[in-house]
Amino acid sequence: MLKVIGFDLDGTLTQHRTPLPPASRELLDRLRRRYRVLIVGAGNCPRILRQIENYPIDVIGNYGMQYCRYDPEAGLHRQVFDLQIPPDRESVTARISRLRREHGYTEYAGDGVEFHSSGCVTFPLLGTKADIRDKLAFDPDRKKRLAFYAEVCALFPEFTVFVGGSSSFDLAPLPYNKYYALDRLCQDEGYRHDEILYVGDDYGHGGNDEAVYVSDIPFRPVSDYTRVTSFLLDLL
Ligand SMILES: [Mg+2]
Repeated sequence: MLKVIGFDLDGTLTQHRTPLPPASRELLDRLRRRYRVLIVGAGNCPRILRQIENYPIDVIGNYGMQYCRYDPEAGLHRQVFDLQIPPDRESVTARISRLRREHGYTEYAGDGVEFHSSGCVTFPLLGTKADIRDKLAFDPDRKKRLAFYAEVCALFPEFTVFVGGSSSFDLAPLPYNKYYALDRLCQDEGYRHDEILYVGDDYGHGGNDEAVYVSDIPFRPVSDYTRVTSFLLDLL
């Protein structure tokens, strides 16, 4: 019954912003013989394709706003769609300033908000130029961000808000999230939800895989990308 396996990338197949390790490549190679396999990512397609070194599978990027299909005859990826939903920058900036004042994040390095061409927005609590060590040490258990996550969601009703990366909130314009991306794939390409399996690591509250985890699409959690194959042995 299973036809499609969708994978999260960071934390599921590899480390954040790191190429696919050999074990993950081998897993994908084996699964591709039996199923349609694709990546459903939070980042944009060009970034994901660079990270996976153009590994020959389809890639959905920006929570479903972008889609690149691999053309096996040409040996390259082709963009199917690339949606952009520009936000009200002034209003977004004002709301982020308000959150910074209310929660004591008025000091930051670089910019206090990052607008992406897709319409996604990053709210980096420590700023865009913060030191990577400071970012990693900031909120490893996410408690600092979860403390006011509900408030951020309420203040940005036109977005889905994710507790993203190490020290930021990531905002994707509604209705885009990974569940929406997979549902659209089903509608466009004729799959049922129960013919899909999604594999991800970030399914906790505010995580970018949560929308799939709480949905009717079957979900396989991965708690350690270095052992990703061990979570999928029944499919090989
Ligand atoms: Mg992940």
